Amino acid sequence: MIHFVGAGPGAVDLITVRGQKFLEQADVVIYAGSLVNPELLKSTKEGCRIYNSAKMTLEEVLDVMMDAEKEKKMTVRLHTGDPCLYGAIREQMDQLDRLGIAYDSCPGVSSFCGAAAALDLEYTLPEVSQSVVITRMEGRTPVPEKEKVASFASHGATMVLFLSTGLLDKLEKQLMEGGYKADTPAAIVYKATWPEEETHICTISTLARTAREYQITKTALIIVGDVVTHHRYERSKLYDPEFTTEFRQGITKTE
Ligand code: SAH
Repeated sequence: MIHFVGAGPGAVDLITVRGQKFLEQADVVIYAGSLVNPELLKSTKEGCRIYNSAKMTLEEVLDVMMDAEKEKKMTVRLHTGDPCLYGAIREQMDQLDRLGIAYDSCPGVSSFCGAAAALDLEYTLPEVSQSVVITRMEGRTPVPEKEKVASFASHGATMVLFLSTGLLDKLEKQLMEGGYKADTPAAIVYKATWPEEETHICTISTLARTAREYQITKTALIIVGDVVTHHRYERSKLYDPEFTTEFRQGITKTE
């Protein structure tokens, strides 16, 4: 059995309880060494075979999984954050289906949640934005034409950009092309929840300059939108004394 497990964004205590249990029981662990905190591997049992997938091809990963299956071993495939985002899990699962090897998925705390926590941010402030666009700049991996940053930018919603820290000059242009004003608040969150975490608030027109100033070239998320500075927003209906919900009767305002 293979368990795909989300390792969380970095801090060792941000893996889920279920993920931690799988890790403790694993006979084989294949971890995404470029981003998973290696401290997590300390909780594996003695004799656990550990592989760093940063140095492996898909075929090599599958070979390790197949060998483990033959020996009736339990394998944890440890991905950074939550495996469902930019995790390249589907291609592994399709091959496992072909090979008749059983697997399941254990979610993790994505880095976009870790980054929000680092900034004490609410991505969905009433009357500011009620949507979060999770995307990336086109790099060596292409992005479908209809999903270009500029077209998402035209919505003015909160945006979180993965895998884009090396492309900030281009990102600034595309965000503005799409309709964001140059002074729209933005943030760079480097290694959210790791001990070396850094947060930098800027504007979309100063993203590239800010990253250069702090020498941030990777392992960062870019957050764009007025929620970053939260100067204006409406309070929630849910906790408004006059608002009735399934659980609470609202009071009628008297003059
Ligand atoms: N599945 C992961 C994302 C993998 S893609 C998740 O859910 O978080 C790798 C990209 O994620 C990095 O290039 C960076 O943009 C972002 N990332 C991962 N961990 C991060 C962290 N702790 N802080 C900031 N960005 C992070």
